[in-house]
Amino acid sequence: MISIDSALCRGCGLCVKACAQQALSIENKKALCKESCTLCGICIDACPFGALSFPQKDKAKDLSAYRGIWVVAQCLEGKLLPVSLELVGKARQLADEKHVLLSAVLLSAPSEALAQELIFAGADQVLLLSTAPSQMEEEEELAFRLLAREIAQRKPEIVLFGATLFGRSIAPRLAAHLQTGLTADCTELSIDPQQGLLLQTRPAFGGNLMATIATASARPQMATVRSGIFPLPPKDLSRIGQQVLLPALPKKKTKLHILESHRETGCASIASAPLLVVAGKGIGTKKNMKLVHQFAQLSGAQVGVSRPLVEAGWADYSQQVGQTGFTVRPKLLLSLGVSGAIQHLAGIMGAETIIAVNTDPDAPIFQAADYCIEADCMAVLEELIQIYKI
Ligand SMILES: Cc1cc2nc3c(=O)[nH]c(=O)nc-3n(C[C@H](O)[C@H](O)[C@H](O)COP(=O)(O)OP(=O)(O)OC[C@H]3O[C@@H](n4cnc5c(N)ncnc54)[C@H](O)[C@@H]3O)c2cc1C
Repeated sequence: MISIDSALCRGCGLCVKACAQQALSIENKKALCKESCTLCGICIDACPFGALSFPQKDKAKDLSAYRGIWVVAQCLEGKLLPVSLELVGKARQLADEKHVLLSAVLLSAPSEALAQELIFAGADQVLLLSTAPSQMEEEEELAFRLLAREIAQRKPEIVLFGATLFGRSIAPRLAAHLQTGLTADCTELSIDPQQGLLLQTRPAFGGNLMATIATASARPQMATVRSGIFPLPPKDLSRIGQQVLLPALPKKKTKLHILESHRETGCASIASAPLLVVAGKGIGTKKNMKLVHQFAQLSGAQVGVSRPLVEAGWADYSQQVGQTGFTVRPKLLLSLGVSGAIQHLAGIMGAETIIAVNTDPDAPIFQAADYCIEADCMAVLEELIQIYKI
C-alpha cells in the first residue's frame, strides 16, 4: 500500500479523486489507503504536498526464507488446462536443479483426481482450496486473497502462472501486492548456476531480441508462460505426493461483477493440432485461403496463418501463429509462403517437423525448416490436393 505521511497530508482529497481503484479515502482529515491499492502511483503525482510515497522496500527482508517452486494450476470444465501441466513439467526440471519441493496450487473445488494428475505430471505436493468459488466472479478475488495469504505465509521462491486471461490478470495484481517482479510471456525458464536465481527469457523490443530477466532482490520470483511453450510432461503413474487442504477464507463481498462471459474460440484447435498448415502472404490472394482450407479438410490438418493475413482480414486472430498469436507444437507443420520473421518463428519452434515452401531461397523460414521446397506454394498446394483426392 502507498505510504502516507500524516504530518504532510492536509486532507485535501486530490489523491482520492485521482485514484481509479477507489483505494483512498479521507478519514479525520487525513488520507487513508486501503488494501485494494495497486501501487500504480497516480496519487503520488496528484498530491501537491508530497505526503504520499511508495512504501519503503524492506531492506531486512530475508530472501533465504523463501524456498520451493509453485505452479498455479487452472481448470476449465473440470479439466486441468494443458498449460498448467506443461508448467508443472518445466517446474519439475527447475525444482530438481535447485533440489527443492515443487507444489501445485489447484484453483478449483478440491479434487483428488486432479491433484493426482498434477502429481503424476511432476508435483511433490498439491495445495487444495477448501473454499471453492461458488460463482465465476468470486474466482479471481478468492484466488487473489488466498494466494496472497499463502505466499506470505509459506514463502515460495518461485511462482509460475499460465499466461491465460486469468493468469494475466491475477499475476500482476499479486506481484504489486507482494512488491516483487513479474516477467510476462516467458519463452524459456532456467536456473542461474551461480546464484540459483530464476532466469526468465522473453522477447523484447518488438521481438527483435530476447531479454533474460532475473528478480534479484525481491521474492517470490514470478513469471507467466503461454500455452504450448513447454511440452506436456509424460504421466509418471509411480509418482506419489501429498495433498494439503488450505485453511478456508472468510467470506467477503467481491468487487468484480461479470455480466456476461464468452468462450474463446479456435485457440485450442491450432495450439494443440497435431497437423498444421500455415499460410503466409506468399499465398497471394484471399481467394487462395479456400484452397488452403480444402487441403486442411482433406488431410485432417488445422489452418494457421501469419499475422499479415489476420490484419488483412483473410483469417481470424484465433488462427494467428507467432509471438502475438498462438504457440503451436504440431507433429508436422506445412508452411506455405511464410517468410519466417523472428516473431513468426517464436510460435513454431516447438513443431516436430517443419516443411516450408517458399520461392525465395534466402527466406529465413528455410533456416528453421527440416525440409525446404523452393517453389510456388500454390502450385505445390494444388498438387497436394490432387494427391489427396486420388
Ligand atoms: C511486435 C510484433 C509482433 C509480431 N507478431 C507476429 C506474429 O505473432 N505472427 C506473425 O506471423 N507475424 C508477427 N509479426 C509480423 C512479422 O514481423 C512479419 O511481418 C510477418 O510474420 C510476415 O508474414 P509473412 O511471412 O506471411 O509475409 P511476408 O513477410 O510478406 O513474406 C511472404 C513470403 O512469401 C514468399 N512468397 C511470395 N510469393 C510466393 C509464392 N508464390 N510461393 C511461395 N512463397 C512465396 C516470399 O518470398 C516471402 O518470404 C509481428 C511483428 C511485430 C513487430
